[in-house]
Amino acid sequence: MIRANSNTLLATEKPRRPAPAARPRGISRSTWFFLAALLAVGAAAASWFLWGSDGGWNRAETAVSKFELKDIPFNGTRAYEYLKRICAIGPRPSGSPGMLAQRKLLEEHFKKLGAPVELQRFQARDPRDGKPVEMANLLVHFFPEKKQRILLAAHYDTLPFPMLDPENPRGVFVGAHDNASGVALLMELGKEISQSKEKYRYGIDLLFLDGEEYIFSEGEPMFLGAWYFSRQYVDRPPPYRYRWGVLLDMIGDRDLQIYQDRSTLVWRDSRPLVAQIWNTAARLGVKEFIARPKHEVQDDHVVLHNIGRIPFVDVIDFDYPVSPENRYWHTTADTPDKCSPLSLAKVGWVIAEWLKTTK
Ligand SMILES: [Zn+2]
Repeated sequence: MIRANSNTLLATEKPRRPAPAARPRGISRSTWFFLAALLAVGAAAASWFLWGSDGGWNRAETAVSKFELKDIPFNGTRAYEYLKRICAIGPRPSGSPGMLAQRKLLEEHFKKLGAPVELQRFQARDPRDGKPVEMANLLVHFFPEKKQRILLAAHYDTLPFPMLDPENPRGVFVGAHDNASGVALLMELGKEISQSKEKYRYGIDLLFLDGEEYIFSEGEPMFLGAWYFSRQYVDRPPPYRYRWGVLLDMIGDRDLQIYQDRSTLVWRDSRPLVAQIWNTAARLGVKEFIARPKHEVQDDHVVLHNIGRIPFVDVIDFDYPVSPENRYWHTTADTPDKCSPLSLAKVGWVIAEWLKTTK
């Protein structure tokens, strides 16, 4: 994922313009300016008070559950092995040999589990020269006979270059947290679902999205795979419906903290889903799911919800890195050592448990 706004107190306020006619006589323009400045300072102070002076980058509080790997019935060790295997491929931006290698790995993985794999191919453009780039979403179906389904999504392309790297913005970016972690978690979840004796209420689809961040500078179009998938879902409706959608993006951080995303909380159809997932985490005692909003995240889920009309939630640890001095996000430092088997186990456990209990 690429953008988030933590300073939402100011950002979500609608710009208010005083009507000139309503302006009382006798107050000079400079006085109005002074009052406006005072108001701005007040709002900034309130924002600082509510969300912390760091603009949301530093952790507000530490919430660490006492679990060890052996306590958790989701195989974080194996998920972490998948994460390392994915990162060992190297960079995996859309249309690259790395992306093709990863696609092959996923196809083999899920075919071995006996789950049908579907490629949804589409074409996009290289923002640098307008040349076509072949992209494909990869969709895996579990319990394909079920007409009411759950969609678990993760983007599987990597940012072409670590554009926020202070030293080497054209260096090598392997995206361990962003987003080999989400892909690895779905690989392990698929394995567990295929071996489970559980009677799932819903069918389950895993969706690997291409073109989430095929960008070379800020402002270029993003979420291309999510756009294509959503348009197809609406224009050529399949014979099934998605009841809920969960996006898994950046969930491997060894210093895990997952707040609720502000954009999701605005959607009436998605709010119950947020409650379900954070309540599941609370019931299990996975404290790293913090039941408060923090960032306003722009990610694939916004497209899947707004275009696809699927109630969606983004499960994302956007507090990566810990501080601006120690920056991992979109830098060469986003490597497997910044992630952990335990974090993958915790997120995987919550999602697996939610899948079994969701209404
Ligand atoms: Zn990203």
